[in-house]
Amino acid sequence: MIEVQADALRDKLKEVFGYGQFRGNQEAIIQNILTGQNTFVIMPTGAGKSLCYQLPALMLDGTAIVISPLIALMKNQVDQLNALGINAKFLNSTLTKAEMNRVRRETLDGSVKLLYVAPESLTKQDNIDFLRQAQINFVAIDEAHCISEWGHDFRPEYRRIKEIIKQLGSLPIIALTATATPKVQNDIQKNLQMEDADLFKSSFNRENLYYEVRPKKQAKKQLIQFVKQHKGKSGIIYCLSRKKVEEIAEFLKVNDVKAAPYHAGLDASIRMKNQDDFLNEEVDVIVATIAFGMGIDKPDVRFVIHYDTPKSLEGYYQETGRAGRDGLEGLCLMFYSPNDIDKLEKFNKDKSVTERDNARLLLQEMAAYSESAVCRRKQLLNYFGEQYDSAQCHSQQGCDNCKFPREQFEGKELIHTVLEAAQQTEERFDMSHLSDVIRGEENQYVVSYNHNSLPVYGKGNTDTDDHWRSVIRQTILNNFLQKDIDNVGVLKLTPKGKDFLSNPTSLMLAKDRDFSNLGEEEEPEANAAPVRSHDEALFQILKALRKKVAHSKDLPPYVIFQDPSLEEMATTYPKNQDDLVKINGVGRGKAEKFGRPFLDAIQKYVEENDIVTADDVMIKTAGAKSKLKVSIIQSIDRKIALEEIADLNKISYDELLDEMENICFAGTRLNLDYYIEDILDEERIDDAYDYFLEAESDDIDMALDELGEDDYSEDDLRLIRIKFLSEYAN
Ligand code: ADP
Ligand code: ZN
Repeated sequence: MIEVQADALRDKLKEVFGYGQFRGNQEAIIQNILTGQNTFVIMPTGAGKSLCYQLPALMLDGTAIVISPLIALMKNQVDQLNALGINAKFLNSTLTKAEMNRVRRETLDGSVKLLYVAPESLTKQDNIDFLRQAQINFVAIDEAHCISEWGHDFRPEYRRIKEIIKQLGSLPIIALTATATPKVQNDIQKNLQMEDADLFKSSFNRENLYYEVRPKKQAKKQLIQFVKQHKGKSGIIYCLSRKKVEEIAEFLKVNDVKAAPYHAGLDASIRMKNQDDFLNEEVDVIVATIAFGMGIDKPDVRFVIHYDTPKSLEGYYQETGRAGRDGLEGLCLMFYSPNDIDKLEKFNKDKSVTERDNARLLLQEMAAYSESAVCRRKQLLNYFGEQYDSAQCHSQQGCDNCKFPREQFEGKELIHTVLEAAQQTEERFDMSHLSDVIRGEENQYVVSYNHNSLPVYGKGNTDTDDHWRSVIRQTILNNFLQKDIDNVGVLKLTPKGKDFLSNPTSLMLAKDRDFSNLGEEEEPEANAAPVRSHDEALFQILKALRKKVAHSKDLPPYVIFQDPSLEEMATTYPKNQDDLVKINGVGRGKAEKFGRPFLDAIQKYVEENDIVTADDVMIKTAGAKSKLKVSIIQSIDRKIALEEIADLNKISYDELLDEMENICFAGTRLNLDYYIEDILDEERIDDAYDYFLEAESDDIDMALDELGEDDYSEDDLRLIRIKFLSEYAN
C-alpha cells in the first residue's frame, strides 16, 4: 500500500467529488486505509462514511470491494459514482448474463474501481473464483452492524463475510456503521477478526436535533397539529406497519397535507415516484415504514416523527438521524405507548428463543428511554457508549426532559445502595436481580446464591421494582455502573462507582414519567364524538339558540342540529359556512338552512371571550365520503329496493340502515318515499310523522313505546325518521 501526500488527496477530493475539505475524521480514515490497516469507522448517519472508502479506491490500483446489504442502496451509490465519471459496478442477482460478463471483464482488467457486492452474491462459488483472479485492494463493509445479532438489523449472511474474504487473500478491511453500541462494536470486531483495527469513532451527538417523547394519546390530533405548525416543511413519519402507513398518509391528505406513503408493499414505480416527489418537494411529508430512508440524502428534513414506538433505540437513532442533515433545525418527535411495546413483543413470539430474548431486551431499553425523565441526549449517547454532560443540552433546551424538567429527588443513599448490591453480589448480576436483592425478594435465584444473607438484602423494601429499576438506570447513566460487554445484562462497577461507594455525594435523580393511564389512542373516527372536550358555556348558548330557532320554525330542536354537532361547534368554533360543513352531522343543506344564527352566536362568543381559534386543529376523517356512502346515495336516487342495495354492497340490512342514518344526520337528503310507500300504508306513515314533529327527542325506543310495537317495527320507524329528517332538516 501507499503513502499519499495530503495535497494529492485533497486534490482528488476536489477534482472528483467537488468538495473543498474533508469532514471530521475522513482524511485520517482514508490515510489509514491507504496504509493497509484494518479500519473501523463509527460515524453518525449523514457524516460522510461513503467517501471514506470511495476516495481511497480511486487512489489505488485494482478494485475495491464494497459489501452493502441492500440492492437498492447499491444501485443508488453506483449511479452516483457513475455520474461523477467513476467506473463503479455492482454484482448481484439482478444482472443478466451479458451484464455479468461485462462486470467480470472490466474488473479483471482493473478498470472497475469500486465493485459493490451483495453478501448473498459473495457467497456464490463462481463469484469467489472470479474475485480470486482479480486485483482486489481492500474490502469495505458498509452497515457493518448487520453482523451482530445484538444490533437492530441482523443479517445472517453478514456473518460469513470474513470467511470468504480470507479466501481472496489477506486484504485490509474497512468496516463502517452509523450505529453501534459497545456490545455490537465488540461483536463486529470479533466476527471480522479485526480486534487490531484502528477505531475512528465520531461523536454521535447531533446538536441540532431536538428529541421529544409524547404519550400516544389522541395521536392523530397531535400529529395533524404538529404537521400543520410546520406547514410546507419536509418531514418523515415512520409507522410500523404498511397498513398504518397507508392510513396515516390518507389521513394527512384528507387534511390538506401534501403527503405520500412509502413501504415495500407498494408497486416499485409508485414507491419510486413517491420518493422522488419527496426529494423534489412535490410532497412535504412522506409516511413510511423503516424501509424508507437508507441512502436517502435529503439535507433539509425538518422533522422525523415516530408515530409508533420503534423496536430499538438503534433503529430510532438511525431514523431520527435523517432530520436536519444540513445542521439546521431537526425535530424528532416520538409517540410512546406501553401498548405498542406489548404489541411488538407479540410479533416476536415465533422467533427462536435467543432472538426473542434479544428483541425483548431492545424493547426494554426503548421503554426505559421513553419513560425516563433524564436528558434524552444523555440517554441516547450513553447507549452508544458515550458520556455526555446534560448541562449543555439543558442550556439549549435540546430535549423535552431538559426543557420541561421533572420532579427530582435526592439520590445519594439510593445510588449507594445500588452500588452496594452490585459489589456484594460480586458484579455478576443484572438489573432485575439487583432490584430483587435490594427489595428483599426471596425468590429462587436470590436464595440459591444465598443473597438473602447479604447486608444489602431488603434494604430498599419500601420501594417498588419500577422505582429501583429507574434508580439503577440512572446509576448507569451517571457512569457508576456499566454494562458488561461479554455478558449481556451484567452490571459492573466503574472506577467512578467505586469512588462513590467509599465517598458518596449528593446527586439528584429524576422521577420517571407515568404512562400507565394512557388508555386508548382515541383516534377520531367518522361520526365519533369530537376529539376535544367542548366549551361548555358556548354549548349551552348554542343549545338555547337551537331551542329558539326550533320554536320559531315549529320543529323539534333535534331536527335543527343534534347534540354532538353542537358540542363539536363548541370545540372548533367554526367561522363560516365552510367550517360548519366540516362538523359531523352538518351537511351543506343544513348549514345553509340553519347555520347563520349559530355562526353569529359563535362569532360573538369568540370575540367576547378572546378565544384564539385554531383552524389547524380541525380534523377531517378519511371515511367521511367513503365509496360505500356514495354508492348508497346513488342507488337510492335510482329507487333501488333497500334489500337489493344491501346485497349489492355486501352489507346487512341493519348496516345499511346505520349508513343511511349517518348520511342523513350528516345533512344529505335521502328520498325514501318510493320504498316506504311500498312497505307502509299512508295512515301509519302520517301518524309516525306527526309523532316525530311533536316529540322531545328522536329516540327510537321512545317512539316505539308511544306508537306501539304492534303497528311498527323498529326498522319502520328508523326509515320514517330518515324521511322526516331529510325533509325538515336537510
Ligand atoms: P453516511 O453514509 O455517513 O450517512 P454519506 O456518505 O451518504 O453519509 O454522506 C452524506 C452527505 O455528505 C453526502 O451528500 C455526501 O456527498 C456529503 N459529503 C461527504 N463528505 C463530504 C465532504 N468532505 N464535504 C462535503 N460534503 C460531503
Ligand atoms: Zn436534554
